[in-house]
Amino acid sequence: MVQRPSAALLARLKDLLGPAGTVESEADKAPYLTDWRRRYRGDTPLVLRPGTTAEVQAVVGLCAAAGVALVPQGGNTGLVGGGTPFEHGAELLLSLTRLNRIRAVDPIDDTLVAEAGVTLAGVQAAAAAVDRLYPVSLASQGSCTIGGNVATNAGGIHVLRYGMTREQVLGLEVVLPDGRLWNGLRSLRKDNTGYDLKQLFIGSEGTLGVVTAACLRLWPRPAERVVALAAVPDVAAGLALFGRLRAAAGQTLSACEIFSERGLQFVLAFLAGSRRPLETVAPWYVLLEVLGDHALHDTVETVLAAAFEAGEACDGTIAESEAQAMALWALREHLSDAQTPQGASLKHDVALPLAALGGFVAQALAAVEAAAPGVRPVVFGHLGDGNLHFNLTQPPGLDGAAFLARTDELALVVHDIVHAHGGSIAAEHGLGRLKIDAIDRYHDPVERSLMAALKQALDPGDLMNPGKLVRPA
Ligand code: FAD
Ligand code: ZN
Repeated sequence: MVQRPSAALLARLKDLLGPAGTVESEADKAPYLTDWRRRYRGDTPLVLRPGTTAEVQAVVGLCAAAGVALVPQGGNTGLVGGGTPFEHGAELLLSLTRLNRIRAVDPIDDTLVAEAGVTLAGVQAAAAAVDRLYPVSLASQGSCTIGGNVATNAGGIHVLRYGMTREQVLGLEVVLPDGRLWNGLRSLRKDNTGYDLKQLFIGSEGTLGVVTAACLRLWPRPAERVVALAAVPDVAAGLALFGRLRAAAGQTLSACEIFSERGLQFVLAFLAGSRRPLETVAPWYVLLEVLGDHALHDTVETVLAAAFEAGEACDGTIAESEAQAMALWALREHLSDAQTPQGASLKHDVALPLAALGGFVAQALAAVEAAAPGVRPVVFGHLGDGNLHFNLTQPPGLDGAAFLARTDELALVVHDIVHAHGGSIAAEHGLGRLKIDAIDRYHDPVERSLMAALKQALDPGDLMNPGKLVRPA
């Protein structure tokens, strides 16, 4: 049963947070009520914007006592509708963006404590200011927040070398669904004092509590970066090139991304000033980045030459300046945005064992073409992690709404093939509202029921982002 907030509760919350801490007018609420892709549009009587952990605690405590549900939200860049309230309008939206202080930077311990609302770019800059690297990097980094990154276990382009957000988190501060504060803000590398509770909240998409701060690991800042792009005939050749460079560059290989020729065409049409990076038009392009201290350029050059010899690459370029490196990365980073002007699109964020990637792509491309003739697949992603964004743009000239109406049907086509190859239907964006039902078809029922039991234990009233990721047991 959905409990609507009473007028008395709303008045108390407004009193508690003051004018800077609430948003009530329809126009001002609007940006909080739709997701980045404009796929969902929800409603809420009040947006809550606490400025401190104590205020978050007070808000959660009041809502818990009244049986009113909360939807935590950070930068609102999530891609699965996790931060958007439902249309019924009974939930309160809890925006964490005013919790935006860097509490501590420690270059001896190599740690940084950031509040939930600090943007990812803000954390990167704070790390750089002490000559350290915070390695998580996403195209949304100017807007997405550390709280959102933790809640979604964000991945991005450097997972290959540094791991996902989970690998960066040493400690968390969390307001629990009943309003208690768990101060797990430790900075220890080693701490075997029982269950590692922070892991529960990483990737929980706001369903188990509100992350208010995180202690993050910092890394040495590499002195040099080498960025290269290679044209390859197929995914298998791309993987061979990846294996070759990993063998030669070892740990310094930091990103290995792939995109298709159609993706490149969309970006060239979309991004002002962009140019085709190679003379050769090929089915696929692999973008490589090596981060380290010396002689990396020679390593990349030798590997590319060997790959041409072996027929794995048919053309390639190494960026000779930072501007060229940024131009190559811009092609990769705008793939998602570049789909928008082409019409309606369906997105599938999938992961596969590396050995299964080539077979998956061939089979899935044939299956979606058979199911939706004329569909324009835009396939790209993090090749080295086995994570593809298997996106489908509508056939040109057809009705976009009719294409979107086939969302579940086409997702089933793609996801069944992913599952048959031992993959995951949610690699880095999470389940949110989009995949809460789809996952039941693929996940081990024991695993699903364990998750439901955890949800039940921590949030028995189902008040923390209900209807996302998992339902209580
Ligand atoms: P929101 O979108 O506001 O929320 C996301 C989820 O986290 C929701 O379920 C919300 O309830 C919950 N949440 C947010 N803050 C908190 C909190 N403090 N406590 C508890 N729960 C909370 N993702 C990747 O992993 N890799 C990519 O490469 C990548 N690229 C992207 C590129 C673009 C252009 C865009 C738009 C998105 C991309 N994303 C990517 C997705 C998105 O940026 C990440 O999921 C990001 O971590 C979301 O952060 P946010 O602050 O915007 O969270
Ligand atoms: Zn991605």
